[in-house]
Amino acid sequence: RIVSPQTSSPGEDSIERALRPKLLAEYVGQHSAREQLEIFIAAARKRGEALDHVLLFGPPGLGKTTLAHIVAHEMGVQLRQTSGPVLERPGDLAALLTNLEKNDVLFIDEIHRLSPVVEEILYPALEDFQIDILIGEGPAARSVKIDLQPFTLVGATTRAGMLTNPLRDRFGIVSRLEFYNVTDLTHIVTRSANLLNVSITPDGASEIARRARGTPRIANRLLRRVRDYAEVKSNGVINEQTAGAALAMLDVDPQGLDLMDRKLLDAIIHKFDGGPVGVDSLAAAIGEERDTIEDVIEPYLIQHGYLQRTPRGRMATHTTWRHLGLTPPGPTGN
Ligand code: ADP
Repeated sequence: RIVSPQTSSPGEDSIERALRPKLLAEYVGQHSAREQLEIFIAAARKRGEALDHVLLFGPPGLGKTTLAHIVAHEMGVQLRQTSGPVLERPGDLAALLTNLEKNDVLFIDEIHRLSPVVEEILYPALEDFQIDILIGEGPAARSVKIDLQPFTLVGATTRAGMLTNPLRDRFGIVSRLEFYNVTDLTHIVTRSANLLNVSITPDGASEIARRARGTPRIANRLLRRVRDYAEVKSNGVINEQTAGAALAMLDVDPQGLDLMDRKLLDAIIHKFDGGPVGVDSLAAAIGEERDTIEDVIEPYLIQHGYLQRTPRGRMATHTTWRHLGLTPPGPTGN
C-alpha cells in the first residue's frame, strides 16, 4: 500500500532516518506540541534535570519517533528505543531501565501494547526512579529495590484512549499530533527533495503534499516514487505534471485517497447501503484488521468528511458518494 503510513522495509527505514529533522527548529508544523516542548526542554536544561515524561499520540507517520529523537538531542542525552510488544517480561524493561544514564530518554513506541506485568514495573520507575524486582524463586524469593538514574520516558501511541488511566496519569506532558496541512507538507517535501538532491518545482512539491494524506511519512514516500517516475519518463525534474501522472499511476487519487481507502468507502456504500455498519463487519468485508481500520485508514477519512462514526457504526457521507462518482441518497441527492 503506497500511502500506508507504516514503514514497509529496512531500506525505507534508513532513508527515513536520513530525512528526519534533528532539531526542534527543523521540525515542521505541530505548533502546539513544538511550543510546549521548547519551553519545557529549556526549563529542564536550565535546572539540569530530566525532562518530565512525554506522551505523544496520533496516527502513524506524523512524527512521534522523530520528536522523541529531537527531545534527546535537544536535551543533550542518549535515546534508547523499544516498543510495547517487544517488552515481553518485566526483566526486559528492568534491564533497559537500569542501563539508562542520568537524564536519558527512553522511547517506548506503541506503549498501549505493554503487558500489565511490565506496566507494573514502570509505575515506580516513572514516579520515584526506582524499581522493585523479585530475586530468587519460591519461598526464598525476595523483592529488591533498585535506584535508577532520573530519566524521561517518551511514550508514543496511536490512540490515547487505549492507555490505562494510571499510566496516562504519570505523563507530565501530553501532546496530540495532528494531520499536517498542505503548506507544512509542501515544506517537508521541498526539504526532503533538497536532502535527496532531487529537482522539484514548487507546484510539483505542492501536488505531492496535497496527496499525502496529511502525513509526512507518506509525503516522503510519494516523493521517492515520483522521483523514479520523473527520471524514467522525463528529464528527472518533478513538476506538477510529472507528479500528477506518477501519482495517478500509483492509484493515489487527487484527494490523496488510495485503493484501500476507496475499497473501504466502496464497501460501506455497496455492501452496507451507506451504513451504519460496525467496524468488525467492515473489517471482514474488506479483509483488513480492525486495528488497521481504526488506527490507519479511518482517522484521515473522518477528519476529511468521508466517513462518520456514529453509535450504530460507520456511515458514508454525501462527500463519499460524490467522490466515488455516485449520487447521494435522500432529498439532497435528487
Ligand atoms: P511516527 O513515529 O509518528 O510513526 P516518524 O517520526 O517515524 O512517525 O515520522 C516519519 C517520517 O516523517 C520521518 O522519517 C521524518 O522524515 C518525517 N517527518 C515526520 N514529522 C516531520 C516534521 N514535523 N517535519 C519534517 N519531517 C517530518
